[in-house]
Amino acid sequence: MAMARSVGTLASLALLPKTDLKGLVERLMGEFTVVGPVPKGKEYVFSPIQSAGDLALDYGTTILPPKKVLHQPFEVLFSFHETEGICEAREPERKQILFGLHACDVYAIQILDRAYTLEYPDPYYGIKRQNTLIIGLNCHQVGPTCFCQSMGTGPGMRQGYDLLLTDLGDQYLVEVGSSSGEALAAALQLFPAPRVMLVEKEKRLDEVRRKFHKRLQTTGLHELLEDNFRHPVWEQLMHQCLACGSCTMVCPTCFCYNVVDKLDLGLKSGKRQREWDSCMLLEYAQVALGHNFRKDRDARIKQRVYHKLVYYEPQFSTIGCVGCGRCISACVKKIDFTETIAILRGE
Ligand code: SF4
Ligand code: SF4
Repeated sequence: MAMARSVGTLASLALLPKTDLKGLVERLMGEFTVVGPVPKGKEYVFSPIQSAGDLALDYGTTILPPKKVLHQPFEVLFSFHETEGICEAREPERKQILFGLHACDVYAIQILDRAYTLEYPDPYYGIKRQNTLIIGLNCHQVGPTCFCQSMGTGPGMRQGYDLLLTDLGDQYLVEVGSSSGEALAAALQLFPAPRVMLVEKEKRLDEVRRKFHKRLQTTGLHELLEDNFRHPVWEQLMHQCLACGSCTMVCPTCFCYNVVDKLDLGLKSGKRQREWDSCMLLEYAQVALGHNFRKDRDARIKQRVYHKLVYYEPQFSTIGCVGCGRCISACVKKIDFTETIAILRGE
């Protein structure tokens, strides 16, 4: 890999020729597990890579968000055995890099950070998060279901990254976003870039901004939803929705889980694990004595939409949707809550 003077301060900029990307990723793989977008059939998934060539940085979106690395779909909390007692599952983990994340997914991780590290710190999430660096990648294309621009979360990334790449044609502009990113950039000995390259970056992002088709008007959203809790659109959605939960499973900001004990048949050993759960599923709101306070599908649909667009804000000081569009792509019934909001607005 071509080397040059190292990049120094937090506001530093660097250039990475695309021909050097492979060497850079291989160097990172020497020290970190690198998780990035890789093809899967006609789609993309985040997965640990075995070589730099596995990365597909021209991806649009992935089936599941990179959340799955920090908050796993199934996670053993501890196991136990009659004679050996309780065995903690948490082990020191190898440091990892989430590579090539788009702005919406990085913003969503910041929401998860608030949910899992502030009021009730979650040690399982916390240890993974501490050992994770994020190398973001500004979007250069817009998918048919993307509306991050409306949510103020993209397409340009403003925070939450350690390093940020922007595709400038035959090279990437590299921006440093944290002291860890600064150390990484210094170790990688990247070419320093003049600040004028930020103008080129904004020009590229402006081209992307012009490509958005899907929008969600957020002005007065709280009042709109509060005034329309009994609007007939919710009943229409109830008849369409299959309550399959896919929309929540693919969502980068959903963080609910259930905890279950799995015992062996002899009841001598077992494990306690947590599994992603979904407010769209019937059993989610079932409590003692079998009472279910959200047994009707319209109540569950409303809970999902109102939680994202109204209830998150007082909890986490941000709206709960980053506009990634995954819930729209994943829904077999093509339910799209940007359309629901438009209906409530009378559009
Ligand atoms: S993915 Fe669609 S059908 Fe399935 S629960 Fe969500 S809105 Fe309903
Ligand atoms: S609600 Fe839908 S569009 Fe918003 S963050 Fe979740 S999956 Fe993405």
